[in-house]
Amino acid sequence: MTAERIDGKAFAAGLRERVGAHAGKFASATGRKAGLAVVLVGEDPASQVYVRSKHKATVEAGMESFEHRLPAETSELELLKLVEQLNADEAVDGILVQLPLPGHLDEQAVIGAISPDKDVDGFHVTNAGRLAVGQSGFVPCTPLGCMMLLTDRLGDLSGLEAVVIGRSNIVGKPMAQLLLDANATVTIAHSRTKDLPAVVKRADIVVAAVGRAEMVKAEWLKDGATVIDVGINRLPPAEGEEKGRLVGDVDYAGAEGVASAITPVPGGVGPMTIAVLLRNTLVAAYRNAGLEVPEGL
Ligand code: NDP
Repeated sequence: MTAERIDGKAFAAGLRERVGAHAGKFASATGRKAGLAVVLVGEDPASQVYVRSKHKATVEAGMESFEHRLPAETSELELLKLVEQLNADEAVDGILVQLPLPGHLDEQAVIGAISPDKDVDGFHVTNAGRLAVGQSGFVPCTPLGCMMLLTDRLGDLSGLEAVVIGRSNIVGKPMAQLLLDANATVTIAHSRTKDLPAVVKRADIVVAAVGRAEMVKAEWLKDGATVIDVGINRLPPAEGEEKGRLVGDVDYAGAEGVASAITPVPGGVGPMTIAVLLRNTLVAAYRNAGLEVPEGL
């Protein structure tokens, strides 16, 4: 068997197109564009790349992008003041504070200051709570993107065995909750799990969100499993390479011979994250304007 490659890049492009179309309708209905404010503190190079690509994608989707770049030595009080100002700004529908923050800033305090109704990353405890009890709120972009890929491919997930490897607040835990909501039978595995290969073996759906290059081996997988690989890991450069290759948490080449479908790295989950961020921002805009969120977003 050769697994089907789940093309997250193409799916994300479709979602971005739908967001773009609805963003235009939102602007016509309200006389203003939906707006996303992104706050970057300091000069972490990876964060700068993320913030640039979020800005570009937001503008391309026909939404307003407000960038706030603050020096690394910004105090928590100054940052909290900016967040307050963005909470009160009617042109701003979504607020995203790029993580990680410099060490002297308390991430939980800053995230906690964002209005839950503008928390398009879904990291605020109120949104985590809403997800836990099944109320509508904002769901973190990466797991929501994984869920879209899974339901697109498998339809109804009722009764399927799902194993999520990783229990972070931004990927593993919300992923498990979404799968549970979709009536899958869910196991969350982590670094203390005993006999991980045996746990993974029973899964119809495997979501790997660990951060260890090619850790999940072909022989761990059940025949015909659907595999979502969230991990992004850079291998050490091979001879003649300037930069090492990017790989996921799953041994793709091996898994292809056992799984029925698998997301590649890059080109799988990665592009979904930013597309869902745009989607969440537009959903926030509709809700903040008191309008019904269109179907298909
Ligand atoms: P974290 O480091 O916060 O969490 C990693 C999880 O993996 C932890 O729960 C940890 O367990 C578990 N883990 C570590 N080692 C093992 C092991 N040997 N066996 C089983 N479980 C293990 O990472 P994130 O959740 O933030 O991210 C996970 C991966 O996804 C990273 O590679 C990251 O780069 C990528 N990512 C990709 C995104 C995308 O857009 N595609 C977005 C976000 C993340 P424990 O809790 O016990 O320590």
